[in-house]
Amino acid sequence: MKLPISPSMKEFVNPKDLAEAIRPDTTLVSIMMANNEIGTIQPIKELAAIAKEKGVIFHTDAVQAMGNLDVKVNDLNVDLLSMSAHKFYGPKGVGALYVRKGVRIDSFVHGGAQERNKRAGTENVPGIVGMAAALKLAYENLEEYNKHLRKLSNKLIDSVMERIPYVRLNGDRENRLPGNVNFSFQFIEGESLLLMLDMKGIQASSGSACTSGSLDPSHVLLAIGLPHEIAHGSLRITFGEDNTEEQVDYIVDNLVEIVERLRQMSPLYEDFVKKGQKA
Ligand SMILES: *Cc1c(COP(=O)(O)O)cnc(C)c1O
Repeated sequence: MKLPISPSMKEFVNPKDLAEAIRPDTTLVSIMMANNEIGTIQPIKELAAIAKEKGVIFHTDAVQAMGNLDVKVNDLNVDLLSMSAHKFYGPKGVGALYVRKGVRIDSFVHGGAQERNKRAGTENVPGIVGMAAALKLAYENLEEYNKHLRKLSNKLIDSVMERIPYVRLNGDRENRLPGNVNFSFQFIEGESLLLMLDMKGIQASSGSACTSGSLDPSHVLLAIGLPHEIAHGSLRITFGEDNTEEQVDYIVDNLVEIVERLRQMSPLYEDFVKKGQKA
């Protein structure tokens, strides 16, 4: 059952909107390649082409994309691209910025002449080597890894949509990161859901890790047009290489039970049932 809302969703950046937003004094466009909360994969190639045509530098935050998608800077035509090693099983605390030849950027850390005067200070060599090794491994197994993640996410999405009413899949069904699943459950509160899942040993998130601890609904879900009360009931589950289909079954069984239990405690749900509203 679909949620009883039909907002006009804005899960993707519309190239036409970008073209209209670029002004004569625009110096940089920065768009995430894949969203960390709802997994949507943006049409970066098309967007970068628009920036190029207007003579504006284009940066993409590819932190979620690296190790998950086939990323080729020349094909995408981006000027700048950033990545973070720990998102593809590399060491924490190291990342990289790709800078296209001819693109001039200011120094990031002033002082020594390391990294062509861009970032003073001795390089973190073990981190850098670790990142490169992790990236190599990730791309050697990309297809297999993607297939595995896709299987787990599809199983989770299908089972939840089938067994739990009043749920919405956030982000696009096809055009999403293979390991990302993000739902909104109506009539319940994401934080309670997280706590109860945690007690069952299931680690999930209600928004981005950077905002955990905040009780505000996800800015991403609000930005795509979800109403507050529905954005509040959101849950993100992200799979990695060690997850299994048995774990998906375990998650689904627990979700069915917990969502039902929380709804029984929810005055909103009680109201909804009393009024006999139709979904
Ligand atoms: C994790 C993440 C970051 C931040 O990277 P850290 O190295 O963890 O600070 C930035 N952008 C996206 C899309 C991310 O997923």
